Parts: sequence; structure tokens; C-alpha cells
Amino acid sequence: MSMEIAKDGMARVLKRWGFLIPEEVRRYKAEDIFRFHESNVSFLDAFHMTYEVLFKRANGLKCASDQIGSGCGAFVTPTQSHEARLIHVHPDNLKKEFDPLALMSHEYIHFASHSAFYPKYYGGGGDNPFRVEGATEWLNLQCYSNYWDGLTPTAVAQSRQALIDAPPTKGRFTRKNRAAYRTNYEATKAWIKLDSVKNTSKLVNYVFRGISIDPKDFSSIRP
Ligand SMILES: [Zn+2]
Repeated sequence: MSMEIAKDGMARVLKRWGFLIPEEVRRYKAEDIFRFHESNVSFLDAFHMTYEVLFKRANGLKCASDQIGSGCGAFVTPTQSHEARLIHVHPDNLKKEFDPLALMSHEYIHFASHSAFYPKYYGGGGDNPFRVEGATEWLNLQCYSNYWDGLTPTAVAQSRQALIDAPPTKGRFTRKNRAAYRTNYEATKAWIKLDSVKNTSKLVNYVFRGISIDPKDFSSIRP
């Protein structure tokens, strides 16, 4: 079931952006790159290294790896080569996801990112991680742009149900996460809007091909 959602998420990205993703990255199948962990313990084991080498410093975090990892839905190992890169998915947090399909496609964009963008640019710290997330989420929601507010059909159905039942408070779209994603997504959207053809091209060339944007230009994307 999980692998089916992963395949669907990948297909959405490839349909929208595949022509810009290098062939040597596109050739990886969902089964090669998604790791659906069976327990919190094995997910935390995998999370530890990435937290220590990248997330902790880049995001200025002080807490222990397990504390952050326990609340994380998924992450991508920050290797230079795609061959060694994996998308790790947390078993319980995936079940709490407001929009699991959008999480799969979002993570696949991180996977398909050129190493100059993720992990290198991300690792620069400061606003960089936010810009990476904002850009990734903008590219992600473009894969669903026919739907209400960029949400997937599943998410739309769930949010309607949520209005009937209880407010969605779990997973990636907790109130705080939702606000952070929204802010960075809006900043990217505003920057694209300044010159949509030129800036879309700049953004995808940076994310998927590692052709960096003039820092003065890209720094206008602010959370
Ligand atoms: Zn992300």
C-alpha cells in the first residue's frame, strides 16, 4: 500500500517536471529509493546520521536526534550521489499524515534534487533550509495545480472530512508546520510571480541541474 502511494507521488513529479530531471536520476524506481520503516527504532537509527551531519547544524537545532526524528514523517539522506540516496519514511508518522501522497512527491523532489541544491545549498544554514523547503513545496504543489489550493484529491477529501470530524492536527500539517510551509511556499510563489517564465526556469535549473541562481536574486526568496 505504502509503495503504491510512493509510486503515485513519483509519477506526479515525473509527469510535471520529469523532462527537466536528468535521465540518470529518473531511472531509479520507487522500490530502489523508498524505505518504509517498520518501527520507530529503525527509522531513528537511519535519521541519526542525517541529523548529525546536516539537519542539526543547518537548522541551528539543539535537541537530541531522537526528539526531532520521532516527529518526522520522512527525510532524504544527504548524499552527493543519487546511487546512495534514500527516502526514509516513518511508519507511525506516515499514518498520521494529513496528505501522504503530497509527502511522497515532496520527498521525491528532494531525492531528485541536484547535490548542489540538496544537500549543499541546504547545508549553508541561515535561511537556506527554508528556501529549499519553499522551493520544493512550490514545485510539489505544481504537480497538483489542477486541484483546490494545490492539495491532492485525497487531501481535499480529508480536509472536508476533517471539517465534519475534528481539525487536522497531526503529521506534517500541524499548525506550526503548516505555517512554516505556507510562509516559504508563499515566498517562492511571490518570487516566481515577479517573472514567471524566467524565474521558473531559474528555479528548476537550480533544483534539478545544480545551476545556481545569483545569490542576490535568490536571496529575495525570504521566509
Ligand atoms: Zn522537505
